Amino acid sequence: MATFRFYAQLNDFLPHALRHGRFAHPLRGPASVKDAIESLGVPHPEVDVITVNGEAAGFTYRLRDGDHVCVYPVFRQLDLGGLARVGTDPPRPVRFALDIHLRKLASLLRLAGFDAMLLTEDAEVAETSAAEGRVALTRDVGLLKRSVVQHGRWIRNTDPELQLAEVLDRFDLASEMTPFTRCMECNTPLVRVDENFHRCPGCERLYWRGSHYDRLVELLERTRARLAQSSDYPIDIGE
Ligand SMILES: [Zn+2]
Repeated sequence: MATFRFYAQLNDFLPHALRHGRFAHPLRGPASVKDAIESLGVPHPEVDVITVNGEAAGFTYRLRDGDHVCVYPVFRQLDLGGLARVGTDPPRPVRFALDIHLRKLASLLRLAGFDAMLLTEDAEVAETSAAEGRVALTRDVGLLKRSVVQHGRWIRNTDPELQLAEVLDRFDLASEMTPFTRCMECNTPLVRVDENFHRCPGCERLYWRGSHYDRLVELLERTRARLAQSSDYPIDIGE
C-alpha cells in the first residue's frame, strides 16, 4: 500500500472521492511511480514534480510499501523549492500538434500566430509531438499516456475560445501572440499583399479587413483580457 496526494489541476483526472486529499492505493506487484500515477488516471505529460516521502523522485522510481507520494502539475508562479522536475518545458517557440477533434482550437491558435498542426490519428499526434518537440493537445487522456509524448495537455474547456485562453495561459504565451500571420485553414505563414490584404501561399486563401476580421480582433482582445486576469492555477498546497 502507498498513499497518494495530487495537487491543483491534476485532480481533474481523479474520481471525485479521491480529489484534494491523501488516499491509499494498493500496490499490485512492482510498479514505477509513473505507472501508478497513470493507472490512477493522470497522464504523465501533465506531471511536473513528484515527491516520495518528501524527496524528489523520477518517473522510474520503484514504489515500496508505505511510500507517501505527492504529485504536482506545472506552477508558473510557485517555486517548489528547487525540487528536481520530471517535467520539462517545451522548446521555444512553442508549436502544437492537435488531434482532429480540436479543429476550431487549431484555427484559433493559428489566428494568434502559433504553429498548430492538426492530425487525424492519435498515433500521428503522439509521434509528431515527439519527433518535432510539439506540444500535444487533446481531449483524449489515453493519447497523452502514450509513452513517446513528452509535452502535452489535456484540454479542459469545451468552448474553443476558452480553450485558446487555456492553452496560452498554461504555456505562458500571452506575450508571444502574432495575430494574422498564419493561415487559419492550413497553418501556412501568410504573405502580405498590401496594407489590407494577406495571402496564404499554401491554399491561396485571401485575408482582408472585413467584418469577419473585426470579429476575430474582438475575440483576441477577449482572450488577452482573460489572460491578464488569470493568476495561475488554484493553489491548494498545504493540507
Ligand atoms: Zn492556407
